[in-house]
Amino acid sequence: MNKYACHKESFSNDSKILHICTTKFLKKQEMKVLKFGGTSVGSPENMRAVMDLVTDGEQKIVVLSAMSGTTNSLVEISNYLKKKNKDTARIFIGNLEENYKKVVAELFTSEENKKKGLKIIKDVFQTIKSFTSGTFSEVGENTILAQGEIISTNLVTLLMNENGHDTKLLPALDFMKIDEDKAADLNYIREHIKPVIKEVGDAKYYITQGFICRDADGEINNLQRGGSDYTASLIGAAIDADEIQIWTDIDGFHNNDPRFVDNTKKIDQLSYNEAAELAFFGAKILHPQTVLPARVQNIPVRLKNTMNPTDDGTLITAESDGRGIKAVAAKDDITAIKIRSGRMLNAYGFLSKIFKIFADFRTPIDMISTSEVAVSLTIDDTRNLESIKEELDNFGTVIIDQDMTIVCIVGDIIQEEHGFASKVFNALDGIPIRMISYGGSRHNISILVPTERKKETLQALSDNLLNGL
Ligand code: ADP
Ligand code: ASP
Ligand code: MG
Repeated sequence: MNKYACHKESFSNDSKILHICTTKFLKKQEMKVLKFGGTSVGSPENMRAVMDLVTDGEQKIVVLSAMSGTTNSLVEISNYLKKKNKDTARIFIGNLEENYKKVVAELFTSEENKKKGLKIIKDVFQTIKSFTSGTFSEVGENTILAQGEIISTNLVTLLMNENGHDTKLLPALDFMKIDEDKAADLNYIREHIKPVIKEVGDAKYYITQGFICRDADGEINNLQRGGSDYTASLIGAAIDADEIQIWTDIDGFHNNDPRFVDNTKKIDQLSYNEAAELAFFGAKILHPQTVLPARVQNIPVRLKNTMNPTDDGTLITAESDGRGIKAVAAKDDITAIKIRSGRMLNAYGFLSKIFKIFADFRTPIDMISTSEVAVSLTIDDTRNLESIKEELDNFGTVIIDQDMTIVCIVGDIIQEEHGFASKVFNALDGIPIRMISYGGSRHNISILVPTERKKETLQALSDNLLNGL
């Protein structure tokens, strides 16, 4: 039987952001930040739809992702260059450039703007091609990955100006920054965004790149895959926006992952804590960190569907509507580590020695559970797994299970009537649960299952827990 179980380190950057925010307030701006994802800008037609949506006469900052599929193509190109397969990389670069030439031909009306569009494409692809000779470094990789957002924002800015909308481009690389620990440097962003806005000059609409930033050395870097959501909320916090809107290809936050489960339903309202837990534990609709900057400054986050803009979407605020279990999400690529040791019996300091090993290798732990003779925990960063195992071997027998998934059930669990845990267990009858974490937070219960049983687990929770509500 578990002695205790808890979650750890989900929001390790939160206190830092809070400190920054409470020490430096800026004058409130009545400005919204709107972010449009890859599908929303995925074709000339969709780019025009975005233009029509944002040009309502209210000043705003619009954050754009790369056109859908572009970042994946850029990752592929980088991988070929890493493997020194330059010829294949060149073929992929050529194909992508041809696709963008077609986008330009369709997007602009005047010959002058078609020429300007082609110049944007030519410059970007020259940058990408420059990495096909010489040695390929991490800086090269990050520079290539940044080009998708650079293209989409330049094209949409030109499109909006061609259509008579007063629009300026804010270069994200001039104000978005991460620190030595790769955490967003909100203080820096706050200090630099206003001078950048001033420098580019007055405009009704500002467009900027999601995802990309500079690192502590000033080199191009990024906020990890899906990071444009995070860009929007960091900008929202930096300018103290009155709303952050994340526009995507679905009508809002669903109560389960629609990619794996039938009959998922949109949730109208979520609290910051609920949304943060779901995003952290794998709900792809939001980058894991997105909610944090908005939460510390109490800025509402609204998820909207670009294809159905009149729908209210999902509103995320400090309020919870107290409806008990709200949603489930799943995070893959989890590794479970069990350390079995007689030395744990009646010993103090055992766990701290174990945790120190993970801290020394800068590896966050997600779930933990202990018994008298064993401790189980999970990690998702396996870069130092071999070295961690070597150290753990000094403490007992170490068993490692890969290809595991954390399924996280989120809601105001205290509001649930008695028997919540038994409801979960009944729903999951027959599914091998490797670990369970309950009580670490009132918003979350997490279970660890083999990834091959994920779909079945999510569907069972939908059928037995969520859809009965
Ligand atoms: P964007 O390119 O706009 O950032 P994403 O693909 O990153 O869009 O996120 C939207 C997708 O997230 C949806 O199309 C859906 O398949 C997926 N998704 C996963 N979990 C959820 C969820 N709980 N609610 C809504 N969508 C989800
Ligand atoms: N273009 C980046 C990606 O595909 C960032 C984003 O879309 O949010 O991961
Ligand atoms: Mg996304």
